[in-house]
Amino acid sequence: MKSYDVAIIGSGPGGYVAAIRCAQLGMKTAIIEKYSTLGGTCLNVGCIPSKALLSSSHHYEEATKHFEEHGIEIPGDIKVNLEKMIGRKQAVVDQTTGGIDFLMKKNNIDVFEGLGSFKDATHITIEGKDAQEIEAKKIIIATGSKPSTLPFITLDKERVITSTEALKLKEIPKHMIIIGGGVIGLELGQVYRRLGAEVTVIEYMDRILPTMDAGLSKELNKVFKKAKCNMMLSHKVQSVERHGDEVIVKAENKKGEVVEFKGDYCLVSVGRKPYTAGLNAEAAGVKLNDKGQVEVNEHLQTSASNIYAIGDVIKGAMLAHKAEEEGVFVAETMAGQKPHIDYNLIPGVVYTWPEVAAVGKTEDQLKADNVEYKVGQFPFRALGRARASGDIDGFVKILADKTTDEVLGVHMIGARCADLIAEAVVAMEFRASAEDISRMSHAHPTFAEAVKEAALAATEDRALHV
Ligand code: FAD
Ligand code: NAD
Repeated sequence: MKSYDVAIIGSGPGGYVAAIRCAQLGMKTAIIEKYSTLGGTCLNVGCIPSKALLSSSHHYEEATKHFEEHGIEIPGDIKVNLEKMIGRKQAVVDQTTGGIDFLMKKNNIDVFEGLGSFKDATHITIEGKDAQEIEAKKIIIATGSKPSTLPFITLDKERVITSTEALKLKEIPKHMIIIGGGVIGLELGQVYRRLGAEVTVIEYMDRILPTMDAGLSKELNKVFKKAKCNMMLSHKVQSVERHGDEVIVKAENKKGEVVEFKGDYCLVSVGRKPYTAGLNAEAAGVKLNDKGQVEVNEHLQTSASNIYAIGDVIKGAMLAHKAEEEGVFVAETMAGQKPHIDYNLIPGVVYTWPEVAAVGKTEDQLKADNVEYKVGQFPFRALGRARASGDIDGFVKILADKTTDEVLGVHMIGARCADLIAEAVVAMEFRASAEDISRMSHAHPTFAEAVKEAALAATEDRALHV
């Protein structure tokens, strides 16, 4: 029987990053993945394929709607070849997952293909291609998550689908009904709207992206409405029925009336749930909580002291970079180091266009915590760079402590915000004040100048260009 210092179950961004860090720290490491490709949800059916389709559909929108204003004329019709677009997405996925194979080899990590389940706290049975039993002194559970649904919905995966199927459709829907105005619904909704589908987003709460700062939800909702998406807020879905190629969704509005929507596809994107099926966690003494998450302490250690858990399968934001931080954290903890994760500084990004990004506290959270704060906001339309490229929607908002000027939250919507948010994370990691950011030189002309201007606005209402 092969024996390891550490074995990791699941090869998503949590698991494979943990494996690399364990190997770097000198541990003999194994990783077990039930699918034939490494990379988990993120690389195979999540972050990477969705961003590939967002990029392709963005190019199409630019070509059909914005090239002309730049003086670019394309003779004849511009058409979408969906098969080719999906093919390119798959090529990007294959290249990326292949990169993980390389990293595993480079770091001398043994990869086992098969379902890993606990025999006891130090033995894992692998069923599948590499069937065998292995032994490990320490084990990391990184089994991730799967899409959740509503109890009355039958996901047939043809017409009533999750994000996994929406990433490989064979036709552009005529009318895609999306249940849930969260990250998946909006990213994939935007993809298919750009490609020509009618899109209806049905959201239970009174705003899309309900966990983000309300200002961002409002601005993105405007963008979706401008693109002629039907944004049905405060609607509670009651039933989803498929009749042949038609899907009928019924939802109750605020007045108690039942509204009916007819489409050819229904994307169910109401969140994801932790995945532990087949893991046989009880055999190792690993406890789950009432949400089905693996219960962990502040060291991400489970109820079995040699077993840790990370990523989507434990509490917290279901984000690839959160899983990665936790992978490194656990590897370093096992090696006797004292790592730290500031969960308040894990940024959240929505890759629509304009992009939405945030870090730290929202205005609602600061109000609930009775923190006195000031707001500095700057619109992208006032920037030369934004006008030059034609991306003028959105703003940067900085929330700073009223007394100390420390930056407490940064919320932005606009072009390239997914990358701009990194400046806010760095500033907050070093506990910068709004004035600190405002006194740093930002290259001109850039989108990043909006961050400096918002900081100036927060400091003393001193923005220069509004
Ligand atoms: P996962 O990536 O889910 O990996 C878990 C792995 O464990 C899987 O490969 C699974 O097959 C394997 N596994 C499970 N049980 C076993 C077992 N018993 N034996 C062997 N193997 C097992 N996050 C972002 O930060 N940015 C984004 O842009 C983004 N976009 C997304 C888009 C979509 C459409 C979706 C669905 C998700 C997106 N996410 C994004 C979320 C992100 O994918 C997850 O947060 C991330 O993948 C979690 O990583 P993980 O390692 O915890 O688990
Ligand atoms: P989500 O939690 O982001 O959004 C779910 C939405 O569905 C919420 O707005 C919620 O109010 C709504 N909802 C719930 N029940 C409903 C009902 N009965 N009727 C109508 N609306 C209802 O979940 P998601 O979009 O499915 O994404 C799942 C996870 O994947 C998220 O945790 C997210 O962090 C992650 N993800 C991240 C990214 C990214 O980082 N860019 C992209 C995609 C997915």
